[in-house]
Amino acid sequence: MADLSAIHEQVLDCTACALSATRTNAVPGEGPVNARVMFVGEGPGFNEDRQGRPFIGAAGQFLNELLASIGLRREDVFITNMVKCRPPNNRDPFPVEISTCSSYLDAQIETISPDVIIPLGRHALSRWFPNETISKLKAKPRRFGSQVVLPLYHPAAALHNGSLRSVIMDDFQRVRALLDEAYQVPTVHEAEPSEQVSLLEQTAVAAPAVPASANPRVAAPAKPDESAATGADRPTSARSPRAMGN
Ligand code: URA
Repeated sequence: MADLSAIHEQVLDCTACALSATRTNAVPGEGPVNARVMFVGEGPGFNEDRQGRPFIGAAGQFLNELLASIGLRREDVFITNMVKCRPPNNRDPFPVEISTCSSYLDAQIETISPDVIIPLGRHALSRWFPNETISKLKAKPRRFGSQVVLPLYHPAAALHNGSLRSVIMDDFQRVRALLDEAYQVPTVHEAEPSEQVSLLEQTAVAAPAVPASANPRVAAPAKPDESAATGADRPTSARSPRAMGN
């Protein structure tokens, strides 16, 4: 298993595709190596490229709000992107750029081994569900081996279409529900046992299912001695929204 900081050093030095020629900084991602939840966006935008950190602009501010709305702290989750360098003018990443960069995401997933992976938007969705649409699969968790993948709309979608804001906020409750289910935390309005339907049972499984309750790692707080992998101490800044039609 690779060391997370070694992976990130490789990303910072990477020249494997043309995006490296136009970037200011590569953006490997950030968060604790023992994070239980991983968010995967599309690619860095203007401010992310400037600062070398993911999701620090307008979409990132909304992501921070969404995390807070379900009681998660940004520093407890891992946040990264499909491509680690900004596509010029925030264009969509080309398939060859995504495939060239995919080994870094593979290595991050293998090293962190999160319990829940959340692809944000259609580009990240396609890594797990090629030829599917985000509107069809959003907020539907599927199990891939020991991991649950829960696709959600990209937060930037709400910046372009305000009516999606409440949809995204509602969908985020699925993350909370998944984590609560894994820990069997009773909710105030808990249904009668006969009415309870597991979120994981509501959807087809893509790989042999492991009962979430058998996995105590879901939503476990990050160990206090393990620090953010990259850039946690760098300042944030406001940014203009990344133009993405997710
Ligand atoms: N959008 C993304 O997909 N990733 C970022 O890091 C910022 C905006």
